[in-house]
Amino acid sequence: MTPLLKLLLRALIKGPVTEAAPDKQDVKALADQIDGKAMAKLGRSLVVRAVDAGSCNGCELEIHALCNPLYDIERFGIHFAASPRHADLLLVTGPVARNMAEALRRTYDATPAPKFVVAMGDCAIDGGCFKGGYATLDGVDKVVPVDMRVPGCPPKPNDILKALLALMDKVSGKS
Ligand code: SF4
Repeated sequence: MTPLLKLLLRALIKGPVTEAAPDKQDVKALADQIDGKAMAKLGRSLVVRAVDAGSCNGCELEIHALCNPLYDIERFGIHFAASPRHADLLLVTGPVARNMAEALRRTYDATPAPKFVVAMGDCAIDGGCFKGGYATLDGVDKVVPVDMRVPGCPPKPNDILKALLALMDKVSGKS
């Protein structure tokens, strides 16, 4: 039996090796709350600039999931921007490779105030599995101030949404 046939048979017998789809009501409730609080705090929807500061790409896959047809969070007014100049929040992944430190600092400087930084994933918090490596700085807060940390390796999309909501709660009333 060929390997492909084995895989197909296993999938037919045991089911596909994928996680269940997110609860649509959970996603809607979280995203609606984030958007409402962002409107109250910033006067507009939340715009996020994702910054890969040396991640393994696992965290990026979870960030991308937020924009897939199951989550589709842009329909709730939470947008990803290509430029930090259009962003309210930097969502930073990875332990901060030494070669990315200057780029992260410049990205932070280019983001207009009020600006927020979320360290996403264990690597971004303290280096995670790269901790102590010669090529990394062991966490985003070694380079720029961090407002919120999302633990996990990687965090799930709903964990990211909960962190954004907690951040909006934390900053409400500021400025
Ligand atoms: S936290 Fe895990 S998934 Fe995210 S960049 Fe680090 S090793 Fe990769």
